[in-house]
Amino acid sequence: MSENMTSYIADAEKALLHTYNRFQIVLDHGDGVKLYDTDGKEYLDFVAGIAVFAFGYNNKTYNDALKAQIDKIIHTSNYFYNVPAIEAAKKFKKASGMDRIFFTNSGAEAIEGALKTARKYAFLKDGKTDHEIIAMNHSFHGRTFGALSVTGNPHYREAFEPMIGNIRFADMNDIESVKEQITDKTCAIILETVQGEGGIYPADRAFLTELRRICDERDILLILDEIQCGMGRTGTMFAYEQYGIRPDVVTSAKALGCGVPVGAFAMTEKVGAHSLSAGDHGSTYGGNPLACAAVSKVFDIFEELHILENVKTVAPYLSEKLDELMGKHDCIIAHRGMGLMQGLEFNMPVGEIINKAMDKGLILINAGTNIIRFVPPLTISKKNVDEMVEILALAISYSESGTHSFTV
Ligand SMILES: *Cc1c(COP(=O)(O)O)cnc(C)c1O
Repeated sequence: MSENMTSYIADAEKALLHTYNRFQIVLDHGDGVKLYDTDGKEYLDFVAGIAVFAFGYNNKTYNDALKAQIDKIIHTSNYFYNVPAIEAAKKFKKASGMDRIFFTNSGAEAIEGALKTARKYAFLKDGKTDHEIIAMNHSFHGRTFGALSVTGNPHYREAFEPMIGNIRFADMNDIESVKEQITDKTCAIILETVQGEGGIYPADRAFLTELRRICDERDILLILDEIQCGMGRTGTMFAYEQYGIRPDVVTSAKALGCGVPVGAFAMTEKVGAHSLSAGDHGSTYGGNPLACAAVSKVFDIFEELHILENVKTVAPYLSEKLDELMGKHDCIIAHRGMGLMQGLEFNMPVGEIINKAMDKGLILINAGTNIIRFVPPLTISKKNVDEMVEILALAISYSESGTHSFTV
């Protein structure tokens, strides 16, 4: 590492709150599916800023749209209409099948909005304030209090108790465990269509279909968190399309702005008409013209670049190559995923493999201690998959061979 990079890192550790154990590189710029650090070293990117940069870095159409919006107006406040927000909302409706959209600044805020929607919907029915929400073990919904309260990882919650209250946890893909938690007070069930941070666990078709049926029967809101698995990642704009169901409320973020901080929660007409109304919710920045110009352009670029078609072509290839890799290495014990959201589970911590891959010019990330997660830009090619697998195989062999003692 150059002295230059070492000194950046030293400065960072003196000024930034240490809430992340960061990789020891400073990223400088990106182009397509490649990233470059401040020393000019090139990396093949299989993380996309954690499922954010759907069409890769430095897309000219996207950059030009943002620059044009900056020169017009960046912010107006939500007391006025703005054209980019109108355009973005129309495109989101079309892509999601939802009817009413609220733009936020992040994923966690989209979750907060979805939870408030569910409580208000139930409140308007019976005037009570003791409603319950069911969430899944191993889920991840974000770091703010509401989102943390429905995050099924006690380790993330422990030091910050008490949570918002009246949350019950069930197991993903275990319908009986959900039924056990349902009471007359249940107002919503929230889950990720494909669990991300928790280790890449897609919902089973039978499980999700049955949840939809139960929610319909009891007028419970089904909230699907598609912050990571939505926006084309699984081969359809939203993963739930592949299950033949529609949620009552959906949350989005990550690839929604492809780098500009923006999220959204959206709902059906029925829920929109019977939940949050004027004065119930707001955000100074949420849905501002700059963020919405990005969202609007993102939807256009998905069509121009035939992103979904590319996912449908490359994902089966990635899946096949990861199966092959599992066949060759005993330390890989499971392979799961949907589209370009895949995970390999190891019988050991994967920190060393990820660091070795980085040395060799490949950026990967974990999901939990023992799982490597693959969430590349949706524009990757089969050739990029080959390059990735070649480096990963080397990194695994290195780890298997040895007495190395590095952990994440
Ligand atoms: C990343 C993520 C969040 C939180 O989004 P932030 O923008 O980091 O607040 C919530 N849910 C899921 C499924 C996520 O992957």
